[in-house]
Amino acid sequence: MKTEATDNLGEEKKSKNFIEEKIDADLKEGKNEGKVHTRFPPEPNGFLHIGHSKSICLNFGIAESYNGKCNLRFDDTNPANESDEYVQSIKRDIQWLGFEWEDREYYASDYFEKLYQYAVALIKKGKAYIDDQTVEEISNSRGTPTRPGKESPYRNRSIDENLDLFEKMRDGEFDEGSKVLRAKIDMNSPNMHMRDPALYRIKKISHHRTGGKWCIYPMYDFAHCLSDSIEGITHSLCTLEFEVHRPLYDWILSQLGVFHSQQIEFARLNLNYTVLSKRRLLRLVEEKYVEGWDDPRLHTISGLRRRGYTPKAIIHFAKRVGVAKRDGVIDVALLEHSIREDLNKVAQRRICVLDPLKVVITNYPEGEEETLLAINNPEDESAGKREISFSKEIWIEKNDFMEDAPKKFFRLAPGKEVRLKYAYIIKCEEVIKDEDGEVIELRCTYDPQTKSGVDTSGKKVKGTLHWVSAKSAKKATVRLYDRLFNIENPTGDKEKDFTEFINPESLKLISNALVEPALLEAKPLEKFQFERLGYFCLDPDSKDENLIFNRTVTLRDSWAKKN
Ligand code: ATP
Ligand code: MG
Repeated sequence: MKTEATDNLGEEKKSKNFIEEKIDADLKEGKNEGKVHTRFPPEPNGFLHIGHSKSICLNFGIAESYNGKCNLRFDDTNPANESDEYVQSIKRDIQWLGFEWEDREYYASDYFEKLYQYAVALIKKGKAYIDDQTVEEISNSRGTPTRPGKESPYRNRSIDENLDLFEKMRDGEFDEGSKVLRAKIDMNSPNMHMRDPALYRIKKISHHRTGGKWCIYPMYDFAHCLSDSIEGITHSLCTLEFEVHRPLYDWILSQLGVFHSQQIEFARLNLNYTVLSKRRLLRLVEEKYVEGWDDPRLHTISGLRRRGYTPKAIIHFAKRVGVAKRDGVIDVALLEHSIREDLNKVAQRRICVLDPLKVVITNYPEGEEETLLAINNPEDESAGKREISFSKEIWIEKNDFMEDAPKKFFRLAPGKEVRLKYAYIIKCEEVIKDEDGEVIELRCTYDPQTKSGVDTSGKKVKGTLHWVSAKSAKKATVRLYDRLFNIENPTGDKEKDFTEFINPESLKLISNALVEPALLEAKPLEKFQFERLGYFCLDPDSKDENLIFNRTVTLRDSWAKKN
């Protein structure tokens, strides 16, 4: 698959993207007195997701590379779905990603009074009017892209009447839906957004910051451009769906003669096998398909954090995806590749047996225990070694044994030999079964000459297994995550609800795994590679001996294979 992302894979990008080219041109012309000021403008109506991280990296990244500033601005103009809980989660996530807004934390709601005054100014210029039509009437008279709209019978109200009605709207004298403030532009415009768009509507809902002070709230299109202008934003970067809104953005700023920020659009990040829109994420949370906004199966920032992702991997991924002018879908395998690449270098290796099968080493002395050395990270010598213990009884992975093994099965089978990692070569001598015929134990012998690092036997075996010593192993719960949806584009079928494509096996809970005791010291969210099994992190809900690990990704890199 050829995507924007594969073009500059693996290396820091060198060429400039179209936004940087535009900024360079502006700087050359001496625009904005040589300043670059961006903003990241989330609406606090849900948690941030991986798509937002692209916008965060872009806005904060551009500010940084041009020695400019980036504001954090909450676009909180729609009180119905917004809350302080979301504000806090957004701040936490941006900080975790490593970006700083210093003292520049702004809220569109802080500008409500100013925005109101701007609306009054538009009315005074004869550029806005109060419409008494119902929402339905307005929508019906809008026309279609090929059929012109019809002017409202209220369009030519006098300025004084409009001013009076607008004030009464603010004072709560009218019911919700009974009136709106509309811009007076052009009902014949080929751009539907220019056909007298609504600027203010009545909503008798309390706001999470302004409480009951307001009962009219500005529309996004009115609030956004003016908030940008108030903050002196030079380049207002947003996603492509706002391209058709740009003429309105420019119209409002020009009519009011205020500082003119420039809107530039880029392609939104889409990922396969998942959903990103907050509306859909909210449904997954509310309808309990997942356990919360930070469920490790979601591509929210908090979900990815709990899954074991690092800020570095997410930022690297965002860079690889790059900034494009056309929408595309990125393969989630690229995101998984990014975290493997990071964790391979930094995660210490540990041993965990997910599905234990007992092995008794018959010729090993009863009661004896010996200490062996295991390498913490073969990619990083400075990570050193740790001690693991070996004794007469150990556990191996059930699927590392097969009674009737085919020729190519290089693990354990009757009469066959394998190496136990960091320890000895063992040979399977006897298979013990329960009354149902299920294998419950293996009797093996070990060869004392084959100790790892000091092997004098000259023996060669093809398979190496991971194992834990029965005496010292600790129990652990392990959550194996898989993709939340079993098709690439769960929202592509308009006839079906996306929840129909949820993968019923997206979470496999293993409650009786065994891990080496060194893992008792793991800290919340600390990451490990469990040898042969994948990357895991300690879930923050773990307590003392109740270890819970989340699998971040397996070791198999389908991205690296394909590319
Ligand atoms: P969603 O559609 O997921 O609910 P949104 O656009 O409504 O997202 P906002 O809180 O308004 O969410 O977004 C804040 C900023 O992040 C906006 O500038 C928006 O353009 C950008 N953004 C949102 N989703 C993506 C995405 N998938 N890729 C890139 N940027 C995004
Ligand atoms: Mg939005």
